[in-house]
Amino acid sequence: MNFNELPFIDHHCHPYEPGKAVLTPASLAREFFHGRGDIPDMSVPKPRMWGATDELRYHFAHMGVVRTLVCLLAEVLDCPAELDAVVNERNRLASENFAAYAELLYKDAGIVGTVIDSDLPINDPLLDLIPGRKLRLFQFEPPLQRLLAKADSYQELIGNFQKTLAHSVKDDGFVGVKVHLAEEVGFGVMPIHEDEAAPFFAGAKAGDADACKRLYTAVFTATLLQCQELDVPVHLHSGFTGGMWQGPIHDADPFLLGPFLKQREFLKTKIILLHAGFPWTKQAGQMAHAFPHVWVDMGQMTPWASLRIVECYRDVMAWAPLSKIVVGSGGHGTPEIAWLAAKTAKIALAEVIEGAIRLRLITGRDAETTAKMILHDNAARLYGLT
Ligand SMILES: [Zn+2]
Repeated sequence: MNFNELPFIDHHCHPYEPGKAVLTPASLAREFFHGRGDIPDMSVPKPRMWGATDELRYHFAHMGVVRTLVCLLAEVLDCPAELDAVVNERNRLASENFAAYAELLYKDAGIVGTVIDSDLPINDPLLDLIPGRKLRLFQFEPPLQRLLAKADSYQELIGNFQKTLAHSVKDDGFVGVKVHLAEEVGFGVMPIHEDEAAPFFAGAKAGDADACKRLYTAVFTATLLQCQELDVPVHLHSGFTGGMWQGPIHDADPFLLGPFLKQREFLKTKIILLHAGFPWTKQAGQMAHAFPHVWVDMGQMTPWASLRIVECYRDVMAWAPLSKIVVGSGGHGTPEIAWLAAKTAKIALAEVIEGAIRLRLITGRDAETTAKMILHDNAARLYGLT
């Protein structure tokens, strides 16, 4: 069973950086690192971007996902399956023409469209580095921070925030909203409605941490309802995320969202759990089964958990309707991540579906249709693409 030729929509990706056309072996490997550097630099807010000693750099190359990158990229670039050789060859192509290198990889993996999470202006030329059809996500936090600084009341803040979101969807064609509820507040909160929000405004404006969380939750609650009207889904980081080590990580389990999301008023807001809730992948699948409005995006887990990717797909496919699973990459910086996500998703699906057919758990007749749904059609249906 081989799904290499099937089209793929990358359901969650970030822009590329032309400065990464030339990388060292350690820096390409580091593109896949989401932990902390071991040379702290307090002027750099993200510990992931801190310096790395030779000891840490040694380990980057031995992450499972980097081994997978080397194994599969060597086939495409027709070079020895060694990190140095792969990096030499990708540097040669990418420094000649970064966009053409991205196109080569996208063509190889069949990536035809991308949902982009970015705060770049709509026609920014940097976005052209991502080949194929592009859809945009509205980022929740930057306008919230900007408008909070200017507003004199909660009413003014929420009015301006909703105007900004409506404009992005109706006039600029944005297809969804990306929210970091897990990192900023933690799952397990309950809704805060408009009539309860005003008391937190002054504290949040003054930077009080608890008031900030409550204000964030209030704007999030209002946004869930507005997204029903606008008919766009909300993308929620769940489980492991690159930013989680800044805050607590125990409360990003998708099950903790249950009490909030089961409220009747939110049942018509489409929620997409990003990162398949990894390591709570079974929970993510259960949520998509139990709640009519919950979908699962396999991104970041694909390709990062490459050595366990088959089990992760089984975890989600066990419970989630197969029509509610989409695959993103969480790619950023260089096109190898999105490419590797498409490749590993296809490998995982081939193994899961082939196994299920062998055990006579599903018929072989619709093997390809099933894979195509998850790789492409479910996302196309979600955003009304033809
Ligand atoms: Zn993102």
